[in-house]
Amino acid sequence: MKKNMIQFQHGESLFGFLKRFGNEEQCRQALFRLRWPNGYRCSECGGQSYCYLRERRLYQCHRCHHQTSLLAGTLFEATKLPLKVWLLGIYLLGQNKDGVSSLNLGRLLGISQNSAWLMKHKLMQAMLEQENHRLLQGRVEVDDAYWGGARRGGKRGRGAPGKYPFVAAVETSEEGHPLFMKCSVVNGFRKQTLEKWAGRLLSARSHVISDALGGFRGIDAAGIEHQALVTGGGADSMEILALQWVNIILGNIKTAMHGTYHAIRGKHLPRYLAEFNYRFNRRFRLEEIVNHLLSDAVRTPPMPQRLVKLAEVAW
Ligand SMILES: [Zn+2]
Repeated sequence: MKKNMIQFQHGESLFGFLKRFGNEEQCRQALFRLRWPNGYRCSECGGQSYCYLRERRLYQCHRCHHQTSLLAGTLFEATKLPLKVWLLGIYLLGQNKDGVSSLNLGRLLGISQNSAWLMKHKLMQAMLEQENHRLLQGRVEVDDAYWGGARRGGKRGRGAPGKYPFVAAVETSEEGHPLFMKCSVVNGFRKQTLEKWAGRLLSARSHVISDALGGFRGIDAAGIEHQALVTGGGADSMEILALQWVNIILGNIKTAMHGTYHAIRGKHLPRYLAEFNYRFNRRFRLEEIVNHLLSDAVRTPPMPQRLVKLAEVAW
């Protein structure tokens, strides 16, 4: 699909979305079908016969009397928000290609900014956990980047305090059309760090193109085919062409992050990058993104607030 075809995709209209998920009962039914696609099944004894205890909103197994709620064991566990608010949050997060700030999300959903922040970070964590499984393969363009400062500055490869290094990687077709991306936070651009990064995120069958930053030799050390473009002073046209997609995507992400989020704390950067990875990697199927994110949220284990606020580990 060409770039302009993606931009003009309809996605799902708000009307269409509200028709499917406009009230609490519709949302509960959708969640029920995702949790138990072949009908209710007791997690203790496998029994399929149950009754619904309406007042306490619990499902009780006829055979062993084990009780469970619709939300237990999912990302939504223990939430005080109605499901329809969660679902609308999923819609807003999924359909806006530049993201939604928690301030804006709170206003649109009529909830506090705190609740919106928590909702957004839980959903971004679901995105992160899904994207963690993805390996890039085939032709991959790679570049180094910083969040929170000018790229590289005067000192090549060295970050000043307050800058957070990350690696941008884009898998393309052999003809050079972008397929999937992966932006991931790293502890720096030393060879050993990038060797670990490459071993974890790239398929052994990929062949990688980068510029001549020394740390990218870690990709060779990881046993992956790697071409470092050596250019004489400044970026010449060969380098620009071979790395064009990773540069375009990096530019788009930085513009979107600066425009939508006034401040991203470094420790949360992995989740923000995962949000862009997740949407980009599903951009051909914008109409289905709500369904995908909902089913990913159902499969993501609960995340108490204290865990949401902990720093994530970088490569
Ligand atoms: Zn049972």
